[in-house]
Amino acid sequence: MNSIDYLRISLIDRCNFRCQYCMPEGAELNYVWRQDWLSREEILILLREVFIPLGF
Ligand code: SF4
Repeated sequence: MNSIDYLRISLIDRCNFRCQYCMPEGAELNYVWRQDWLSREEILILLREVFIPLGF
């Protein structure tokens, strides 16, 4: 099995790189409302309880 030692977490979904496979030209983009973003505490829980135990 391949070892994955790099994790990138996007904090918001408003990326301006506009990669074609993620945000195709002309596609209607529906962004998540700010109140639905993960909180700092939720991100820390994800890291501590999911990703770190998996070996990241
Ligand atoms: S795939 Fe490209 S457009 Fe989509 S989030 Fe990543 S960098 Fe941004």
